[in-house]
Amino acid sequence: ANIVSDVICTFCGTLCDDLEIELSDDGRKIKEVYHACAIGAEKFLHSQAEDRITRPRMQDDDGNWTEVSYEEAAKYTAKILCDAKKPLMYGWSSTSCEAQSVGHEIAEAVGGMVDNTATVCHGSSLIAVQDVGIPSCTLGEAMNRADRVVFWGCNPAHAHPRHMSRYSVYPRGFFTGKGSKSRKVVVVDPRKTDTASLADAHLQLEQGRDYELLSAFRVAFRGEKLPDFVAGIPKDQIYEAADLLKSGRFVIIYFGMGVTQSLGKNHNIDIAIGLTRDLNDYTKAAIMPMRGHYNVTGSGEVLGWQFGFPFCVDLSRGVARYNPGETSSNDLLIRDEVDAVFVLGSDPGAHFPISSVKKIAQLPSVAIDPHLTPTTAVCKLHVPVAFVGVEVGGCCYRMDNVPIESRKVVDPPEGMLTDQEFLTMVLGEVRKNKGV
Ligand code: SF4
Repeated sequence: ANIVSDVICTFCGTLCDDLEIELSDDGRKIKEVYHACAIGAEKFLHSQAEDRITRPRMQDDDGNWTEVSYEEAAKYTAKILCDAKKPLMYGWSSTSCEAQSVGHEIAEAVGGMVDNTATVCHGSSLIAVQDVGIPSCTLGEAMNRADRVVFWGCNPAHAHPRHMSRYSVYPRGFFTGKGSKSRKVVVVDPRKTDTASLADAHLQLEQGRDYELLSAFRVAFRGEKLPDFVAGIPKDQIYEAADLLKSGRFVIIYFGMGVTQSLGKNHNIDIAIGLTRDLNDYTKAAIMPMRGHYNVTGSGEVLGWQFGFPFCVDLSRGVARYNPGETSSNDLLIRDEVDAVFVLGSDPGAHFPISSVKKIAQLPSVAIDPHLTPTTAVCKLHVPVAFVGVEVGGCCYRMDNVPIESRKVVDPPEGMLTDQEFLTMVLGEVRKNKGV
């Protein structure tokens, strides 16, 4: 069989790097995907869909689509960005770092607002890290050492399906040779999730009361008095879970949007980091956000190197400014502050409030995406591009900030551009328009 091995799955932030892909004898088609979870495998197989859109298309006011060339698409994109006073350039999380850096050059030239999906996800974690720092580690370290695993406000059984088997719960590591038998798992979640069903302890707190429970853990670590119930959890259960964590040799706390996007937001993460620091008085402890899109971490990294801030970057005044709440995508859309929208590598049509999506639909707009999505349906121009990690390689950052080079497995359909190639065309057009 024609097998490509050590393939990276560019779907979620776990970036599994052990996939094997079986190709047809001529190497042009993907026949089977081995080792990936269902969503990861679907990404590879979906790239082979017969009805895939392979050329850019413009939508008229009546919703009719007309095919255009990549040259025309690049001209339109450059025009709407140059004509706008404050274009929003959103997304960046499902593409490579190389494409992100070309996109940022465009943003700098047109004075754009650059924001990524952290704005509706782990942006509050980034703010907390800026406030208080973060004691973290790599997934490899956690796999080899962690014997106490906490999932707080996240559900990897569904959102990161191989996280538990590769890194957090089941694998045998250097100091965790008995796999899941070496570990105790604590889940904190208001819902009875599939992850919670695997846990040694499930603290089913009342929704939105994470800050109180995190504070209570810090009190319990010190052996001080708690009220009978905190966030709906009896105090004995809190003392018990606190003792379980203190008795471990290495505690890893993974947290998700249940904490970052509920009441308290970045303050929840501040105190979760404080709790991790406290635990280091008794044992070794680390904390890590469960990042969703496969390269949202890379987007924060590249924005950080280039402009000093990981999301919500305002380049409209010629220097980088950053003020989440003012320069974040939804705030800009709701306040009618942007006059063109450019989306790449994400789907705000599916994830933003409907009021923001309606604003996108009213503005000159372009969506660059290999898939048909709710965003491509409302934008004026849809530019399909090759799949990163399937039809083109590129650097991506795993959720623990480890850069991993994704690899090309098959050629894209004939004549189809990668997002980096298309962005380079747009940059050329922008420079022509600006006379530079
Ligand atoms: Fe891909 Fe994530 Fe599934 Fe791993 S867990 S195979 S990276 S979707």
